[in-house]
Amino acid sequence: PAVEEPIYEAVLGRAAERGDTPALIDGVDGTTLTYGQLDRFHRRLAAAFADAGVRKGDVLALHSPNTIAFPTVFYAATRAGASVTTVHPLATPEEFAKQLRDSAANWIVTVSPLLEAARQAAELAGGVREIFVCDSAPGHRSLIDLLGSTAPEPEIDIDPVTDVAALPYSSGTTGIPKGVMLTHRSIATNLAQLVPFLPMGEGERILAVLPFFHIYGLTALMNAPLRQGATVVVLPRFDLDTFLAAIEKHRISGLFVAPPIVLALAKHPAVARYDLSSLKYIVSSAAPLDAKLALACAERLGLPPIGQGYGMTELSPCTHLVPLDAAQDAPPGTVGRLVPGTEMRIVSLDDPDKDLGVGEAGEIVIRGPQVMKGYLGQPDATAAMIDPDGWLHTGDVGHVDTEGWLFVVDRVKELIKYKGFQVAPAELEALLLTHPGIADAAVIGVYNEDNNEVPHAFVVRQPSAAGPAGPGGPAGPGGPAEVSDVPGLSEGEVMMYVAERVAPYKRVRGVTFIDAVPRAASGKILRRELRGLS
Ligand code: ATP
Ligand code: MG
Repeated sequence: PAVEEPIYEAVLGRAAERGDTPALIDGVDGTTLTYGQLDRFHRRLAAAFADAGVRKGDVLALHSPNTIAFPTVFYAATRAGASVTTVHPLATPEEFAKQLRDSAANWIVTVSPLLEAARQAAELAGGVREIFVCDSAPGHRSLIDLLGSTAPEPEIDIDPVTDVAALPYSSGTTGIPKGVMLTHRSIATNLAQLVPFLPMGEGERILAVLPFFHIYGLTALMNAPLRQGATVVVLPRFDLDTFLAAIEKHRISGLFVAPPIVLALAKHPAVARYDLSSLKYIVSSAAPLDAKLALACAERLGLPPIGQGYGMTELSPCTHLVPLDAAQDAPPGTVGRLVPGTEMRIVSLDDPDKDLGVGEAGEIVIRGPQVMKGYLGQPDATAAMIDPDGWLHTGDVGHVDTEGWLFVVDRVKELIKYKGFQVAPAELEALLLTHPGIADAAVIGVYNEDNNEVPHAFVVRQPSAAGPAGPGGPAGPGGPAEVSDVPGLSEGEVMMYVAERVAPYKRVRGVTFIDAVPRAASGKILRRELRGLS
């Protein structure tokens, strides 16, 4: 059933009564924001925004790494009637300006270290009325200044069904990022849909290291735990040692991560140096996670199996999740079961009108209250994705088993077509990661001299046991570095390893060794950046 409530009500409806319970803790300096403060501050900030001129239908660009202030700004802006477009903190001024122009943003909230980029972007884009800073910077109003406002709380009439609360941009993995219009209703409903699967209430401590600006972080690390009374410990960026130290220090109970972090937890020597015994569960989403890797991670940490979730920005974002309490029973590799109030079909890649049966792989199509309102200003792209009956075509390939567990194979666009066969890069990447000498890997299709598309692997070598990051040795910050000089693993060995384990048409036909796999902030492999390197 759909939740027709503004997002700030849906999340913070019980914040006042939770009073002194910590809502957010800065994982670096320990600063705490209680639920009572979150409730009061976001109301006062909404009043100040309205007093500054923010009106219903305005767009506010929130340009910040994860901080404890981020949620206050988000809920305040939406309470003032604005839509929030979240901006990658590392966006260049040009990229930022493009998003400002595209979304017609008229306000920016940033942090002082990013102010210069925000100023340049505003200058390039035009139309921005004021830049606020969360901390402080000369010539700009700060949150502290705004919280001193005595303006009355605005009376805004939100229509949850049609008003856009958030305007996140898709990750841009397959093309130019698109502005995704998510209404109050679609986000609030998705939160309610997740609750039976993710009972994370008071006393739970969630570590927010994936970015709030991406829809996965916004939902799993901000809206969902704050709605349920958990405490969110916030880190501004991923650094393995800081991340592990925060789990130990803050007695973190739950992690929502993407596969690269699962990989680090499963393989990196630094993990052994921390007490991670407070952890009760790990959820992974955003990109394909191999079942063997998931198992290796859970076993190493003594945890129940890692549960996956599946979703996309256009789905607010989630449609499938492994229920936390059913992680033991879920078949390895599944991304979960359909959340309530949502329909799914698997349709033929050749004929979208043909439904496929159990075990048959085809495109995943979804209908439900979490489907986006559309791409901002792109009616053709919207129509290409959502058909007249309301079914959203995800562009992902998957299949379901008899009990309704979904398995995601890969994206339709990334399947490598080799002589009429289809090869999923994700499958080969997972296999490569089982090699002890491989720290990370990515696979793309390249054309060989016969004009056949063939799998080509990009491989990051595991630092050798004797190397600087070996067991007992000091692990460099940020994981394995300077590995390209480590001898060992050859192209031939990599190709042989794969050839011995897959059907001939799936064989890797070339290997390039690289220092790091390029990834988006949400953890996805940026395969287009690998093209040209092979
Ligand atoms: P763009 O649409 O701009 O190219 P993107 O699709 O990467 O970028 P997101 O909305 O962040 O942008 O990501 C959604 C995609 O992430 C899904 O379509 C799917 O391909 C992938 N994904 C999400 N969860 C999983 C999962 N558990 N397993 C495999 N893939 C997943
Ligand atoms: Mg997409």
